[in-house]
Amino acid sequence: MNRIRCLVFNAALGPLDYRVPEGIDVEPGSVVVVPLGPRQIIGVVWEAERLPATEVPAHKLRPILQVLPVPPLPTPLRRMIEWCADYYVAPLAAVARMALSSNAALQGGGKVTEYRLTGRENGRMTPQRIQALDLLNGQQGTIRELGEVAGVSEAVLRGMVQHDLLESVQVDSDRPYPEPDPHFVEHALAGAQQIAADRMVDAVLARRFQPFLLDGVTGSGKTETYFEAVAAALESGGQVLVLLPEIALTQSFLKRFESRFGTEPVTWHSSLKSSERRRAWRQVAWGKAKVVVGARSALFLPFPKLGLIVVDEAHEISFKQDDGVRYNARDVAVMRGHFENVPVVLASATPALESLQMAESGRYERLILPDRFGGASLPEIQIVDLREQQPERGHWIAPPLVTALKERLQKGEQSLLFLNRRGYAPLTLCRHCGFRFQCPNCSAWLVEHRLSRRLACHHCGHEVATPERCPECGEPDCLVACGPGVERIAEEVAQIMPEARVALVTSDTLTSPAKAAEFVEMAANKAIDVIVGTQLVTKGYHFPDLTLVGVIDADMGLEGGDLRAAERTYQQIAQVAGRAGRAEKPGEVLIQTRHPEAAVIAALASGDRDAFYAAETEARREAGAPPFGRWAAIIVSSEDEAEAKEAARAIGGTRPNLPDVMILGPAPAPLSLLRGRHRYRLLVNARRTSEVQRVIREWLDQLRFPPGVRVAVDIDPYSFV
Ligand code: ADP
Ligand code: ZN
Repeated sequence: MNRIRCLVFNAALGPLDYRVPEGIDVEPGSVVVVPLGPRQIIGVVWEAERLPATEVPAHKLRPILQVLPVPPLPTPLRRMIEWCADYYVAPLAAVARMALSSNAALQGGGKVTEYRLTGRENGRMTPQRIQALDLLNGQQGTIRELGEVAGVSEAVLRGMVQHDLLESVQVDSDRPYPEPDPHFVEHALAGAQQIAADRMVDAVLARRFQPFLLDGVTGSGKTETYFEAVAAALESGGQVLVLLPEIALTQSFLKRFESRFGTEPVTWHSSLKSSERRRAWRQVAWGKAKVVVGARSALFLPFPKLGLIVVDEAHEISFKQDDGVRYNARDVAVMRGHFENVPVVLASATPALESLQMAESGRYERLILPDRFGGASLPEIQIVDLREQQPERGHWIAPPLVTALKERLQKGEQSLLFLNRRGYAPLTLCRHCGFRFQCPNCSAWLVEHRLSRRLACHHCGHEVATPERCPECGEPDCLVACGPGVERIAEEVAQIMPEARVALVTSDTLTSPAKAAEFVEMAANKAIDVIVGTQLVTKGYHFPDLTLVGVIDADMGLEGGDLRAAERTYQQIAQVAGRAGRAEKPGEVLIQTRHPEAAVIAALASGDRDAFYAAETEARREAGAPPFGRWAAIIVSSEDEAEAKEAARAIGGTRPNLPDVMILGPAPAPLSLLRGRHRYRLLVNARRTSEVQRVIREWLDQLRFPPGVRVAVDIDPYSFV
């Protein structure tokens, strides 16, 4: 009798055993459909010895219904899934589900019907049809996908099909992607680049697990250098995964990749259409998609012959996922490399302290690119002390920065102003009665977005139209914007230099890859004089004519008491500074601050990275913080305040008493209300060597909570709110 164990995607159930009918082939990793009561669910066949379950007598086993037409999840991927579940204290099924991220892909390939504009104009031109004609230009997709793009109902689109405005096309969802050519355009590497590339290529060819920290200043050619390792992996028949922290960066990466390898890589991120997901997932699973560039979720794709993993801008905190399975893609990438037996490259100009420490201890090999490519020099950094050089009342750009901006405009060079805050102002209040606009679902102020005339919560997305009168006292024209956001800075630039062409770059303006491409094109063609942006503009971009960077408020990131605040501020400002002077013209950076004496600001001014990291390392060592000690957060939430408090108390009351584990809290979270849920936090601080995960699992496993309570565990947390 053929008994198999199945991991099924139902949080309430453990693994289940089934019978395999004669003549059907399954192996570990096979994706199957199994009966569960009257329903059918999807599961993955797992090695029974790795997945304990209660044995069911043979005569009670039900047969599996179907093996889905996809290759079994590869063994190294299954090992990584197990590791993730174990390390991040997450249910195995929740992690495994991330590997089956396209339902359509599991059902097989085949033809799909997509639609596109015919270019004709027939019938009645309703406003919706005009809107659709406008927005669907150059688009192709299913009716549902087009409906989303055009912002009209599916009925409108079906009407357009009938009137011959849209036509159908049959698309093979398993059509292959063009293959990148490792020799398409090869660049001669500079000395240090060549040395670094050789080390990576060696490891690729040897199919050896080796984490590399590719540590090169901004503009040193890290991308160009790891492209050599990508080429080597392609030549030896391997697949390559490149992780980027931000979808907005994908577009410029695609272009660079294409100019080196002759075709774009396959992309993977959350805003892919479902047909694109299906195609990408299946092509990856059959080893035909050679290079995938994607967001963190791409780590769970079922590559059968991975040859190399690259994590670009590896210090970025967006690699850390903060809901669902709370994992850090940078660390999971290293583990996937371990299980696949392939090298992993972490590239950054401002590595995380954790990564540097790994290099120090010899576990990662450090590859250093000390100079900018082509002789460009690093920009000169100056501090603007806001206590002495005050901006005009109600303004945020201090006189030295104003002067520098005007100079650039005169010379026809570009400037970049950085402020990590979307919208116009972070707080709006009534001058008459003092009313403040607050989110009903979160303990947060509503941020004014003046361009779209709304007040929005940046935590939950709650929005209201900006009212004419105060909702509390009814006074008209009494609302005051407090503090700056990028929209306000852009407005100020327009006041100072009305003739300047200003581009606002935030996630509100670069809403699609196409918009991002448009921005890059305009900036490269000198159609923009001043870029005003959030952290979105701090990384990756290479604009040769950009010679001035202004940091509006260097102190902003230092507030809030986050463990990594200083490191993050350092990284963000060093990265944005790195956008200046990347070609022949030298760059200049002005940093506005009220705390010029802060260690991080001083380090930026003197360019002494090593001193900053050394001081930061000591501080962490003393605090027992990562990478020297371990942190884990337990976050308790419920829509019912009392229930959340009670559950947090119950957890606190059963805390284990261990010599090398310190437990702080429970205390109300700084963001005590989030998306309508009341939140409490506990923080576990342990010695590096202690088995924090086991301690937490055993501690929480003995407790039972009401159904409305959610208890989340965050290992190596990045967010403390
Ligand atoms: P980083 O990612 O380290 O900031 P980039 O890879 O963006 O640096 O390189 C900076 C610029 O120098 C890019 O325009 C890149 O194309 C160019 N560059 C770097 N190395 C080479 C090389 N070996 N040959 C030609 N161009 C190079
Ligand atoms: Zn909110």
